[in-house]
Amino acid sequence: MPTPSNNRRDFLSVSVSAAVATGMAQGGFFSSAGGSEKKKLGVALVGLGSLSTNQIAPALQTSQHCRLAAVVTGTPAKEKQWADKYGISTDHIYNYERFDKIASDETVDIVYVVLPNSMHPEFTIRAARAGKHVLCEKPMANTAQECRQMIDACKQANRQLAIGYRCQFEPSHLKMMELARSNEIGTIKRIDAGVGFKIGEPAQWRLRQKLAGGGALMDVGIYALQACRYLTGEEPVSIIAQESKTDAVKFAEVDESIAWMMSFASGTTAYCTTSYNLNGLNQLTATGSDGFLRLDPAFGYTDANLENSRGKIELPKIDQFATEMDDFATCILENKPSKVSGQEGLKDLLAIEAIYKSINSRAVVEVERV
Ligand code: NAD
Repeated sequence: MPTPSNNRRDFLSVSVSAAVATGMAQGGFFSSAGGSEKKKLGVALVGLGSLSTNQIAPALQTSQHCRLAAVVTGTPAKEKQWADKYGISTDHIYNYERFDKIASDETVDIVYVVLPNSMHPEFTIRAARAGKHVLCEKPMANTAQECRQMIDACKQANRQLAIGYRCQFEPSHLKMMELARSNEIGTIKRIDAGVGFKIGEPAQWRLRQKLAGGGALMDVGIYALQACRYLTGEEPVSIIAQESKTDAVKFAEVDESIAWMMSFASGTTAYCTTSYNLNGLNQLTATGSDGFLRLDPAFGYTDANLENSRGKIELPKIDQFATEMDDFATCILENKPSKVSGQEGLKDLLAIEAIYKSINSRAVVEVERV
């Protein structure tokens, strides 16, 4: 099985432990004084690759409202490893074929889909049909049509669906959002957003169109795209995009680098770039009639750094994955919709499809509405 390069990890991660140490002291309404384990919702992780191993499983050890209850893997060797490391008994360990039996596993409330992108729809729909709430990694799916099928399946099963948009729980992003929308810098005139890294191992699934649905744009460009949407609180109306390729062998199937411009109804224009063939592109700036807000670095796991014209704005560090899961658990228990619902994933895919359409047609493309 191909594995991703370490340099993707290097781009996103710094030690999560520091964030854990400083972050997550807040108690929820369903945490008892003694922090009863019984009241935590059980999470089944589907796909035990890099993200599950290095970020999500550790975050589940510190989560206030979730616990690791089960795992689903296609790699038999991982069954024992995970059972030993996390004390999971064999009746809570599934492979992809046996997955549907999770319906009768009462310890599992949430299925967290952490597989290659093309597998997100199948496992989201199977999880919903098994009666579980679903947290699905980004990008939600390879196409907007699949996003709609996932939303419908969860709706029919009366289960909640959220997408792993961790930045929407990160204090610097939240502060930037609040300031941008509260006229702190006047009317936002432009946004500049860039995210990229140099991808390694040429055989990995991220470079296979069928599994990944696209290249840098699907994997990390989506962070830039989404940030423009949540800073403005608007959907892009039209998009023009261009792709550049310097390595036609490695990037034979997927995009290497894309630049795109998005227009919003209010008059804001966003200039975005993404790439799989450079290092250090990881910034987000909103410029208004009266000033600027900047995140640099912007999209990593722990190191977002916010500043305005007066200097750095100090904010607490948190574990983005633990906070994201805790928020989803709260939404389930309080029966309220997640702010990172399937609709958010669908809106991103509609904009991504407009970007690819613009590249192919060399024209400005209107973004389809939900
Ligand atoms: P990974 O390659 O490390 O792990 C993928 C897992 O899927 C592996 O356990 C692998 O065995 C399994 N798998 C099953 N069928 C496979 C197939 N046909 N080909 C390859 N692997 C297969 O990937 P990852 O980095 O853990 O990413 C998983 C998902 O999480 C992706 O959708 C990715 O976009 C997303 N992700 C999100 C973030 C974030 O910050 N939210 C960060 C990294 C990855």
